Amino acid sequence: MSRQIIIIGRPNVGKSTLFNRLVGKKLALVDDQPGVTRDRRFGEASLLGLDFTIVDTAGWEDDDPSSLPGRMRAQTEASLEGADIALFVIDARAGITPLDEEIARWLREQTVPVILCANKAEGRAGDGGLYESFSLGMGDPVPLSAEHGEGMGDLFEALLPFF
Ligand code: GDP
Ligand code: MG
Repeated sequence: MSRQIIIIGRPNVGKSTLFNRLVGKKLALVDDQPGVTRDRRFGEASLLGLDFTIVDTAGWEDDDPSSLPGRMRAQTEASLEGADIALFVIDARAGITPLDEEIARWLREQTVPVILCANKAEGRAGDGGLYESFSLGMGDPVPLSAEHGEGMGDLFEALLPFF
């Protein structure tokens, strides 16, 4: 059976862009159009010969389970059920936010293996956030640019041990 890899992270870090990059078609719409990626979105991905199912998620806007973002977050939690690996995406240009730290805390309580991905790392603008992300305690970050297709070889190497 195909490995299932889930993309987790706060809004706007580039989850859907990474999903599109890995699936190779415009299946997940990018940006914050209401309703676009509220649900989990599944795609068949291929990365340098590794084939897997990729899951795009939305959610993690606040803590209140009665709010819509809270419900989306609950969905993200439920979606971990079938996942073999989680890609935890942060925005290297924005640096680490309190919400990133909250997600990291939550992920550490889960059993799924996590690969930390520092997206938007093209050029030098992401250097600060990349180094900052070591403080999340989720291992070495994989610098990526989902938009420009950079870092895919490093992501491949990070994934390889799980195949
Ligand atoms: P999501 O909310 O996490 O799914 O994020 P999106 O994939 O919708 O991307 C949010 C914004 O970040 C969009 O404007 C993307 O074009 C932009 N973005 C995504 N990946 C990159 C990247 O690697 N570099 C830069 N500079 N921008 C990116
Ligand atoms: Mg999205």
